Amino acid sequence: MDRRDFLALGIGMTVAAGFPSIIGKAAGFDLPPLPYKDDALAPVISANTIGFHYGKHHRGYVDNLNKLAKGTEFESMGLESAVLLSAKQKNAPIFNNAAQIWNHNFYWNSLRPNGGSKPSGKLLEKINESFGDWDKFRKAFADTTVSQFGTGWGWLVADNKGKLSVIKTGDADVPMTQGLKPLLTIDVWEHAYYLDYQNRRAAYVDAVIDKLLNWDFALKNLG
Ligand code: MN
Repeated sequence: MDRRDFLALGIGMTVAAGFPSIIGKAAGFDLPPLPYKDDALAPVISANTIGFHYGKHHRGYVDNLNKLAKGTEFESMGLESAVLLSAKQKNAPIFNNAAQIWNHNFYWNSLRPNGGSKPSGKLLEKINESFGDWDKFRKAFADTTVSQFGTGWGWLVADNKGKLSVIKTGDADVPMTQGLKPLLTIDVWEHAYYLDYQNRRAAYVDAVIDKLLNWDFALKNLG
């Protein structure tokens, strides 16, 4: 990836994640506020789960990254740049924490109270073109996400021609390093669902797809 692509991707990711690009930011990385109250996704995701997931896990990645980045070139970088540069440098400790912050920022925005209803307009057209119909898309997204072996993420993504697909990534991995633009994600690390669903990952994924997905966010990311 050359520098121009690197910067373009960084800016695209900033827009995609719904967070303003910060030029000349203060040193360090922040935990963005949740886009809703901690009980707003109940009963699909309880306030108890959000309390640990956002309040402990997500915050933990921010604290870890700030410790790891201190005194390095990463300290004054935007989050997106830190994700991409650490991926390029194969700096696993920085990448794992930076990417997990980015993934969680994106995950909270991929969900909304009373979400999940079938999108219309441009998004539905794209889904029909790319998957055949809504039911085939829904099944592909659920099956792909549920089948991620161990910790990771399910994603709805667009390629550079605008074709949609569903992929899964392991651990902290992000679609951007594969040249794919993320539209929505579902966290399938056990901390995302174990308090509410125990081992029933499929029940969690089905409930998220049907009741929480934020299609306005997906449309914004599609551009
Ligand atoms: Mn998580």
